[in-house]
Amino acid sequence: MDLFDSALDVMAWMGVHDKVQDARTRNATVSLIRRGRPTVDASLDRLWEGVGERHVEIMRGDLARILYEAGADDVEYIFDDSISALTDTGSQVEVSLERTPPPTVDLVVGADGLHSTTRRLTFGEEQQFRRFLGGYLAVFTVPNYLGLNRRMVSFSDVDRTVAMYPVRDGNARVLCLLRSRGEIPLDHHDSVAQRRLLHDTFGDLEWEVPRLLAGLDQADDLYVDSISQILMNSWSRGRVTLVGDAGYSPGAAVGGGTSLAVLGAYVLATSLAEAKGEPTAGFAGYERAIAEPVRQSRSIGPDVMKIIIPSSRSQIWLTAQAMRILPRLPLPIRRRLTSYGGGPAAMLKSVVLRDPRRVASPG
Ligand SMILES: Cc1cc2nc3c(=O)[nH]c(=O)nc-3n(C[C@H](O)[C@H](O)[C@H](O)COP(=O)(O)OP(=O)(O)OC[C@H]3O[C@@H](n4cnc5c(N)ncnc54)[C@H](O)[C@@H]3O)c2cc1C
Repeated sequence: MDLFDSALDVMAWMGVHDKVQDARTRNATVSLIRRGRPTVDASLDRLWEGVGERHVEIMRGDLARILYEAGADDVEYIFDDSISALTDTGSQVEVSLERTPPPTVDLVVGADGLHSTTRRLTFGEEQQFRRFLGGYLAVFTVPNYLGLNRRMVSFSDVDRTVAMYPVRDGNARVLCLLRSRGEIPLDHHDSVAQRRLLHDTFGDLEWEVPRLLAGLDQADDLYVDSISQILMNSWSRGRVTLVGDAGYSPGAAVGGGTSLAVLGAYVLATSLAEAKGEPTAGFAGYERAIAEPVRQSRSIGPDVMKIIIPSSRSQIWLTAQAMRILPRLPLPIRRRLTSYGGGPAAMLKSVVLRDPRRVASPG
């Protein structure tokens, strides 16, 4: 995941900046493998510099652990459970959980991702808010048998990309991306069908792909999903609001969703504090403040998808040339060329975050 600019300020204000820095992954190079042509190596640091002034790449589990620990003294966490019903009484919300006795709470903030249950219970079925961007992604873990060290390797064919990068414990993560005009019926609980889809789609590719697909059959952490955005005009109702992908996913892996989720959570907290915990004013201030970054984030994904899932041979060639040239260009030019649809950093800049010491406590 990527944390840009002001999302890193939020980490500092939470007191976890150093932990985030310590846990960051440091892939230094991306290597584009090409059929019958020399591999193109590009400096990732130089590429990221173009996208934002400050950037940290971190594994999802590491960021989740750091944020979990930061809240552990103040927050009661309930694991292995899910909301099954919500009733907003006007002055409180009665929440039913599947396993735990029901709590009654002042507010509900649904931070439960692209397929949010809180959103479904409050606003209705996902289909009316989800916009398919024309692609799918799959992620799974294999042994790092190529011995990759701070290097990501990527191989693209028309409408398909397979990439691999090292993670801890001698393993590597494989990312498969495919372009599809229409949606493919996908059962999130049927991993056999998901594996079959990947074999059928990528099975004819050369390079390391046959070996990676053999690794797929051994992997126990396969994740497959569409690349989709969530489009809602408003994501608050009564005493319930949404934050992050649940309310405004810009598309997995293509739109700066992690930074937007962090920004959204921070703005929600400060807005509620200023409204002394009163949801109507607090949620309205939150939605107003992040309307612009949410709008901007929606244009990033389609542009990034064109690059990472090339749709023609000439696009594959063009991407390789861009990777060759971009890291050598002066920073201002790099910044202009890599600011997809305004870019994640520009998106974050459209809100000036208030230092928490200047925000009134809800008392
Ligand atoms: C493969 C992949 C790669 C990505 N790469 C990047 C990247 O490089 N950079 C980037 O910025 N973004 C990336 N993203 C997007 C990024 O992960 C999201 O934008 C970000 O995690 C949004 O955070 P969130 O907290 O809103 O949602 P999530 O991170 O999805 O968290 C939602 C949480 O809610 C939990 N949950 C869901 N339903 C329930 C329920 N009913 N009850 C209880 N809990 C529930 C889930 O288990 C999960 O822990 C990627 C996404 C994917 C899928």
